[in-house]
Order: sequence, then structure tokens, then C-alpha cells
Amino acid sequence: MPATCQTTTEPMTYFEAYPEHLPGVLHFTCPRLHATLTPESCAARHGLALGDTHGQFSACRNCSVGRVHATGQQATHDRLSELGSTGTMAKLCMRCGHQRDRRVGPICISCYNRELEAKKGCNAKGKPPVAYAPLRLRRVGLELPNGEIRWVLFEAQTWLEPLLRGLKAYPGAKLYDGQPSNDSPWNAEAQCFEYRDEHGQPLAMEVELQGNHQVVRYRKALPGELPAPVVASVSLFDPGFVAEWLRISDEGQSLGKEWRALDYGCSACRQGVMQARRRAGQLEVRCTGCGEATKQPMLREAAG
Ligand SMILES: [Zn+2]
Ligand SMILES: [Zn+2]
Repeated sequence: MPATCQTTTEPMTYFEAYPEHLPGVLHFTCPRLHATLTPESCAARHGLALGDTHGQFSACRNCSVGRVHATGQQATHDRLSELGSTGTMAKLCMRCGHQRDRRVGPICISCYNRELEAKKGCNAKGKPPVAYAPLRLRRVGLELPNGEIRWVLFEAQTWLEPLLRGLKAYPGAKLYDGQPSNDSPWNAEAQCFEYRDEHGQPLAMEVELQGNHQVVRYRKALPGELPAPVVASVSLFDPGFVAEWLRISDEGQSLGKEWRALDYGCSACRQGVMQARRRAGQLEVRCTGCGEATKQPMLREAAG
């Protein structure tokens, strides 16, 4: 098993290590590797470590300094403390967004059992239980570290799930809030919206199974081919905006004392989602990726 999380809050010091050859390029001394690194190479190592199952880069896997650098920020005391106190991703159920100690893979025991029941119900009776929202393919757009935009589908129950599972499947990737095409008009004949390329030609999609998800490729539709359906893109907000919205909406009233992840990506780092809780008349919102956080008084307490 990899070492436990390096929960240092000791800030890193940045300096020009090679002013003659690399003027202006900041480095820091990594206390784990005892090496001089740029934050960028640290972030890359951390990204590789997340996707590494052989333990080759395990020193960088659970490193809080690497996690901060992966968000493109400097590892200050505040940023490191935010991450240290969150411990968010380790316990997060990627389906319901609650933090649970007991989990099976990416989801909590409760979500797992409900899925199992639904599957059994399906096997025994030939249809899924009525009360259970069935899993369906949900899309997320990701910008890979090399700049490539990748569209992936996960069989998921909530909109939160593809965001978290996408970030996990592609270490170092960022949530992408664009669309495969800038043009997606209504097709009156087909009674649906469709993507069109720059020449006004509808786009079709091809899917390819890759591990636990499907990769979507959009291309020009062939004559008579079914166009790709238009789906909503990821919403990216900052914690302040989400807190303000939760304050005035009913969703804010449904929050409890425990952190719950919401299906909004973080516009600052694009590597985390918003988490919120309501405690002592305060609404708290933070990002699971960079730890960016805010706290605001609630407008009103829930009745009763
Ligand atoms: Zn759950
Ligand atoms: Zn963030």
C-alpha cells in the first residue's frame, strides 16, 4: 500500500535555481524526493502517480504539495491546510456526494446496495425497481494535460458522478465547459437539437469502450445517419457564486451539517467540484480540488 498522505502544511519556498540558464523559472526543494523541481514537473509527477497502479511513483501519489501544484498554484501554508483539512476525495461517494467511511470502489455502501438491488430486481423480474433512478450514460468534457479535448461517457445515476469519475480516470485533466461545436440549432424535422460543424453539416458520434467508460468522437454525419444528441456541458463556478446561489435557493436549505459534493465544477482549478454544508447559520462552500473556499451567513434558517 502507498504511504499515507503527506499532510505537511509547511509552505514551499520558490526560488530561481538556475538564474543563468533558466532565468525567471521558479523551483522549489521537494522534501520527499530531496530534489529541486519546478512546480510544473511536480504536478506532472503527481498526475502520473495518480494513474500508476504499480507503485512506481508512490511517493508522489498522496502528496499534498503535488496536489496543490496540480491546480497551478503555489503551495502556501493556507492552500496546504485547506487540502489537509478536507481529506475530501478519499471519502467522497462519487454518486451521492456524501462523505462516507465505508465505500465500495467509487461509491458508498448505501449507493452500492441500492444499485445491487436494482440489478437483482432486473434479473428476477425483468425490469428495474420503480423507485430506483436507473443508471444512464452521462457525458463529461475533459481537457487532457496535452490540451486535447476528450468527451467521455460514464454509466451514472447523478450528474456529479461523471465529473468525479472523469477526473479520476484522466489524472491531470481539467473539466471542460465547452461543447463539441459552437453551433447546435433545432432540427424541426428530427425534433431535436443537433451539433453542426462550421459548414452547417450535422455531427454524428462514435463511441469506443475504454476501461470503465466510453470515449466519444464527434465527426461529420454520413447521409441518413442519426446525428449526435446535444447534451448540457459542465457548469463551472467559483465558491462565492455557488454560496450566493445556495443562499437564495431551496437547494441551500436541503444541505446538512456534513459536506456534500454538488455537480458544479470549480472555475478556478477545473480539477474539483463544489462541496457545501450548512452549519451554525453559515453556508460553507469549498472546492475538492484546490481548496478554494468561502463562508457566508444563511439568509434564513430552515423552519422547524
Ligand atoms: Zn453514495
Ligand atoms: Zn478548485
